[in-house]
Amino acid sequence: MPMGSLGKVYAIYDSPFWREDGLSGKAMGLQGATVQTTFDSSPEDGSFGAIIGFLEADEMRRLDTASEEEIQSLVLKDYVNFFGPRAREVKEWVIQRWDNEEYSRGGHFAVSPPNTMTRFGSALAQPVGRLFFAGTEASPYWAGFMDGAVRAGEMAADAVLDHETGTVVSRL
Ligand SMILES: Cc1cc2nc3c(=O)[nH]c(=O)nc-3n(C[C@H](O)[C@H](O)[C@H](O)COP(=O)(O)OP(=O)(O)OC[C@H]3O[C@@H](n4cnc5c(N)ncnc54)[C@H](O)[C@@H]3O)c2cc1C
Repeated sequence: MPMGSLGKVYAIYDSPFWREDGLSGKAMGLQGATVQTTFDSSPEDGSFGAIIGFLEADEMRRLDTASEEEIQSLVLKDYVNFFGPRAREVKEWVIQRWDNEEYSRGGHFAVSPPNTMTRFGSALAQPVGRLFFAGTEASPYWAGFMDGAVRAGEMAADAVLDHETGTVVSRL
């Protein structure tokens, strides 16, 4: 189950100007876009503006070896398209290409090739003797994300208690 190809790009602005236009900062780029999804990552108090954009799959692989300037110019084109000309006024860029990180080699969750989950998925959360698995992949819901990690941890803790005390405690 290798990690997917993923990059995250933040454009930092003086303020979250899109909020003045009643925009949420969320956008989805379809055909021809470099950025597939954006979110408003500004602090609650709006003391500065930040839009995060995801570079995913083929778009990320294509840009694994591109210069940061090239990525900035492609992302800027999308942001102006999504949020208007003020999106040009970027103060700072932060680019993280998880594909190029030695110890994760991608993100943001492990991808199962065909048949993996249907054939072996049930083994992910099965204890072996007194060894219990609590990783996000063991969660039946939001596997691969923080939500799944917390759920899997709670389920594993319940299962350990069941095992050790013989008592059945509530499941999520
Ligand atoms: C690039 C990237 C971006 C992500 N973005 C998001 C996001 O935006 N939203 C979201 O919800 N999720 C995101 N995720 C996924 C999220 O980070 C994971 O789902 C979550 O951290 C998994 O938690 P976990 O407890 O299962 O495992 P981990 O967080 O991997 O924890 C396992 C821990 O075990 C330790 N360990 C390993 N082997 C041993 C050993 N032998 N002995 C002792 N300790 C050991 C490791 O060092 C690690 O600290 C992202 C993941 C990546 C890689």
